[in-house]
Amino acid sequence: MPGREPARFVVDAMLGDVARWLRLLGYDTLYSRAMKDWKLVSTAEETGRILVTRDRGLYWRARKRGLRAVYVEGDSTAERLAELAARAGVRLDPDPSRSRCPECNGVLKPVRDKEKLRGRVPPGALEAYDVFYVCTRCGRVYWEGSHWRNIRRVADEAKALAERIREARGGSVARRGAER
Ligand SMILES: [Zn+2]
Repeated sequence: MPGREPARFVVDAMLGDVARWLRLLGYDTLYSRAMKDWKLVSTAEETGRILVTRDRGLYWRARKRGLRAVYVEGDSTAERLAELAARAGVRLDPDPSRSRCPECNGVLKPVRDKEKLRGRVPPGALEAYDVFYVCTRCGRVYWEGSHWRNIRRVADEAKALAERIREARGGSVARRGAER
């Protein structure tokens, strides 16, 4: 919706891949394997974050409190991302200039003068790429390396799956309408 703040998330311990992906896609995402169920719910409540969980009981606990939550059942990362796209409107357009640090959720800052990164980045990467991003929180350095091909492939797969989820939902709504 126009003018609305981008969604923020808190992700349960079973969905580490989803948490990393949400950050990569630019979403502010809290994740810690040490976060207990009550802490996930209270964090969602206090910060207005959407709870993402693979635990049906936890999902319903959050929903009963009136919180936004997404129950994720897919086994592959692409399936899980598709569910988030279909149910929470997550945009599946990876762009390194919008990403957050997948490790710590910190904001990334572009580094134009790559000479400053000598010694912090493998020499081959320093030669091959011109744009680098440094995490303002943990200091890790990122660049759009060859693994980004794989990232885009997973995102495209997830987009196609999300479309199928939306179509299936639309179809069932239409059937229900026809029965009346
Ligand atoms: Zn970081």
